[in-house]
Amino acid sequence: MPVANSIADAAAQLTEWRQDFHRHPELGYQEHRTSGTIAERLRAMGFDAVETGIGGTGVIGVLHGRNGPGDEAHSVMLRADMDALPMQEMNDLAHKSQTDGTMHACGHDGHVTMLLGAAQHMAQTRAFDGTAYFCFQPAEEGGAGAKAMIEDGLFDRFPCRSVYGMHNWPGTPVGSFHCRSGPILAAADEFSITLKGLGGHAAKPEACIDPVPCGAAIVQAMQTVVSRRTDPLSPAVVTITQFKAGDAFNVIPDTVTLGGTVRTFDTALHNTIHAQIERLAGQIAAAHECEGSVERSKKFYPETVNDAAETAFCLDVARSIVGTENVHDGIEPTMGSEDFSFFALQKPACFIMIGNGDSAGLHHPEYDFDDANCVWGASYWSALVEKALPLK
Ligand SMILES: [Zn+2]
Ligand SMILES: [Zn+2]
Repeated sequence: MPVANSIADAAAQLTEWRQDFHRHPELGYQEHRTSGTIAERLRAMGFDAVETGIGGTGVIGVLHGRNGPGDEAHSVMLRADMDALPMQEMNDLAHKSQTDGTMHACGHDGHVTMLLGAAQHMAQTRAFDGTAYFCFQPAEEGGAGAKAMIEDGLFDRFPCRSVYGMHNWPGTPVGSFHCRSGPILAAADEFSITLKGLGGHAAKPEACIDPVPCGAAIVQAMQTVVSRRTDPLSPAVVTITQFKAGDAFNVIPDTVTLGGTVRTFDTALHNTIHAQIERLAGQIAAAHECEGSVERSKKFYPETVNDAAETAFCLDVARSIVGTENVHDGIEPTMGSEDFSFFALQKPACFIMIGNGDSAGLHHPEYDFDDANCVWGASYWSALVEKALPLK
């Protein structure tokens, strides 16, 4: 099954849609223009139902096959995320972001467009038997929009047997697909450490309790959490990304705050690491006579785990579109994370990567989604539904 003619013919239109989304990026839970445009297009395509406002700004398009609605066993869900990032675009493109400080640097503009491309084709052909749910999710970038949709009754209102996700992947050729069974993306969360000392004149350290060397000692000690406290065969990352201290050259600050992130493929290991962070920070603070407190963020993205059978199925779908030589199974997992993991905890699921050529990396200010992907991605989505829910 190569690319369907109607999808190939829509390439210019999909590029236009993608670049329009790129021009108008919106942050998590603020995707009002984006979700409004999506809902409008799905309705114009003749979708059987379009539900908005799910988990904030989420949209579900409901499309029945030729023989009417399917029950849970004959329904699948396809997911695209919609949000942009709070960063300044450095590209000089005609379609560059028109909103200062906000940018589609993760290609979610492309994810939305690939799914809309499939929606348009499938609304015309309906070459499947059952129901396909087109899920447009808010706030993937740290806002756990997937969780918000689930808590808003997603799977009760739109019962389905499996869920599928896709992310573009810079550094691999356009028209290639990459996947693995089992864990593919890491679990992630954040922590912050506050160190309270006693500020004062920089020339009188003996009258102060300086939290700066205390913070420095904690940063050093954090380097031993993974190297000394975790199994070398279990991947883990602890990175300190923030060190906030004083504002003046001649003032010892009262307080230092540190921030960082933890990544693993194992929730139990995740908890062990946080316990060690707390122990080190607390006792080092005490040794420096500072008051130390550690806060673990409530935002936790579990590891994304691909179901074995669904992965085999999705790889076959990809092979049918781009040929065996362009589909790569058994890729290395990455320490990045995705809130698609919340869907994968509820249903058998597969999250696949689609090549994005030699663009800048994800979250880079010069990143851009490759528009040639729109056709490949839309074709993958359509073929997936047609194979998962074959016409009798
Ligand atoms: Zn991202
Ligand atoms: Zn992303």
